[in-house]
Amino acid sequence: MSESSKLPFLPFALPDIGEEEIAEVVDTLRSGWVTTGPKAKRFEQAFAEYLGEPQIECIAVNSATAGLHLALEALGIGPGDEVITTTHTFTATAEVVRYLGADVVLVDIDPRTLNIAIDQIEAAITPRTKCIIPVHYAGLAVDMLSLLDIARKHGLKVVEDAAHALPTTLEKELIGTMGSNATVFSFYANKTMTTGEGGMLVTRDPELARRARVMRLHGINRDAFDRFTAKVPSWYYEIVAPGFKYNLTDIAAAMGLHQLKRLPAFQRRREQIAQRYLQALADLPLILPPEAPEGDTHSWHLFVLRLSDEAEISRDEFIERMFALGIGCSVHYVPLHQHPYWREQYGLTAERFPHSQRAYERTVSIPLYTAMTDEQVERVIDAVRRSLGLA
Ligand SMILES: *Cc1c(COP(=O)(O)O)cnc(C)c1O
Repeated sequence: MSESSKLPFLPFALPDIGEEEIAEVVDTLRSGWVTTGPKAKRFEQAFAEYLGEPQIECIAVNSATAGLHLALEALGIGPGDEVITTTHTFTATAEVVRYLGADVVLVDIDPRTLNIAIDQIEAAITPRTKCIIPVHYAGLAVDMLSLLDIARKHGLKVVEDAAHALPTTLEKELIGTMGSNATVFSFYANKTMTTGEGGMLVTRDPELARRARVMRLHGINRDAFDRFTAKVPSWYYEIVAPGFKYNLTDIAAAMGLHQLKRLPAFQRRREQIAQRYLQALADLPLILPPEAPEGDTHSWHLFVLRLSDEAEISRDEFIERMFALGIGCSVHYVPLHQHPYWREQYGLTAERFPHSQRAYERTVSIPLYTAMTDEQVERVIDAVRRSLGLA
């Protein structure tokens, strides 16, 4: 068969962890402070500086899921409330709404961007609606100006799921500084930077931040807790709510400090690979992902191909052929309305989400990560051509 099938399998995603991260983790292990401590604090400050707003509140957590849960909890979302989000996302975006006993209302996507269909949000609003959770799919910003207008008009909160969107910009402003109530980033292993597991909740609302910090660690009143690190020793603390266990360890933050420093270089490499794919795959029976508007940044967390009608194979067949050629692919996402839990909980049918359903049936994500070599990028391009029967 082809030469490429003899090469080692190229996984769909791999983290890019350097010697600085490793040395910092080792330093943490030797320091005696392995849970949340000075490095988690430094990581929060460094993140605020990265966003260009040293005063913005950054709350390090052990996952983006935890951050989304904390943000909604702090906004008072609870039983009887409805939260609007896209069906074309990972279940974490929506499950946190159910943790709080509130209901999820799913909206279809814009077939071009695969982001939530802005023009369908208003029809989903009811007297019970409290919040909207936009997801910056693949790393392309949602039209936040229109979305925030709708939210303002109807008195709704907005929590951005920015798990894909570091660094993504809209009108030259980084996601995280758009003016929603809160934004949550993910540092899961396959995201644009990683701490193994981790996330960051970002907000300009001091009350939201105060509540999230208390609920991040068992509902411990921070004023009492902080006395542990003060000059005068104190064993006393107070529990003011039944909180969660969502703090980020210093081991994870040690990785985060160096991943964050490398983020600009990571982004340049992702952009380079994306541009190579856009150029090399342009003449194939594919719909290529939209780029960010001129002057803005697409994080390229995902590179999502869509087989066009002229492509004579199914998406599943395409993935099987890529696999046979030694290339790992993925699908983002099996939409929420397809999963048994969400389908049965809300009696959902695919007919209600035609654009998401069609995207699900025809899209495939190909490898795009900074640890890939130029040769591996060319191997992916060659495998895409072969899989479409065009090489
Ligand atoms: C990865 C991801 C999450 C969850 O992130 P964790 O840090 O693993 O909790 C949430 N939403 C989307 C869209 C994601 O891709």
